[in-house]
Amino acid sequence: MTSLSVIVPLYNERESLPELCAQLFAALNSPDLARCFDAPFSFEVIMVDDGSTDGSDKVIGELMTGRPELKLISFRRNYGKTEALSAGLRVASGEVVVTMDADLQDDPQEIAALVMKLNEGFDLVSGWKRERNDPLSKTMPSKLFNLTTRIFSGIQLHDFNCGLKAFNRELADSLDLHGEMHRYIPVLAKWKGFRVTEIPVRHHARKFGTSKFGVSRFLPGLFDFLSVMFITRYLRRPMHFFGMMGLGSFLAGLSIGLYVTIEKYFFNQPAGNRPILFLGILLIILGVQFFSTGLLGEMLSSRQSQHGGWSIRKTANLPDTIIDKLNE
Ligand code: UDP
Ligand code: MG
Repeated sequence: MTSLSVIVPLYNERESLPELCAQLFAALNSPDLARCFDAPFSFEVIMVDDGSTDGSDKVIGELMTGRPELKLISFRRNYGKTEALSAGLRVASGEVVVTMDADLQDDPQEIAALVMKLNEGFDLVSGWKRERNDPLSKTMPSKLFNLTTRIFSGIQLHDFNCGLKAFNRELADSLDLHGEMHRYIPVLAKWKGFRVTEIPVRHHARKFGTSKFGVSRFLPGLFDFLSVMFITRYLRRPMHFFGMMGLGSFLAGLSIGLYVTIEKYFFNQPAGNRPILFLGILLIILGVQFFSTGLLGEMLSSRQSQHGGWSIRKTANLPDTIIDKLNE
């Protein structure tokens, strides 16, 4: 079995690749890293070319000579970083899996520290770019993203979206990533009961090319944020989510109705022909609708949870096939 798989998603990073390869292979061949593993150390590097149009795949082809550990998955078009990671995870055979960016911003020297922390008994060790070398236009939105994710997920990490992460095999097997969900890997892992932590890592300024994540990714990212929060926090308790909205809406509508009624009988104001009356009725109906949607969701999810969907740690005395069935 391979000890360590390194997955590198990349999109138009031609200029960075030779230096990245040199740095990465130097780090992987260092005795520090080998010492983190019990068995004889072996590694593979899986580069996932996410539909580059700048000839990145050609450069990787050249870098492969003399490096049998370097492997390449090539997408025909650009699917996004999450899909690239997902494909890499599917192929990686390492007992430990590390992900890192291709643009020389992540430092391969940190891999040993990540693995060492993993060995303390964690399932995911995420990098924390404590001194981040990016322009303000990136660090500000990222601070906001980390703050909201921290608040809504309740997970106390400083940096959810660092490219450098180390996973153990069980977590690598159980992650199912799509959309822009790479940002929420710690949230998904923690939700499944995996032990998640972070360590500070060095971060370098981008040397070549430009960042691939601008404002255009904001909206898809926001929707993924909502769906991740929904899945991890509310899917099992839909009644709590819809019920709260329903109750709020229903009570607001009821108060408006009451207000209109009091005005009619005590102050002789006509109830009809008034926008506020329509608003009241609308809110009451909306409230009842939300409430019943939540109830329906609750009934469905309680049925579902009788049929598995758990996240179970593999044990020595049960065949993997049984555990896999339960984890489905
Ligand atoms: N990336 C990718 N597919 C994409 C966009 C980015 O594989 O559609 C890769 C990119 O080449 C890099 C990593 O994801 O290796 C992080 O991207 P980037 O450096 O642009 O993000 P930033 O560091 O600016 O947040
Ligand atoms: Mg970068």
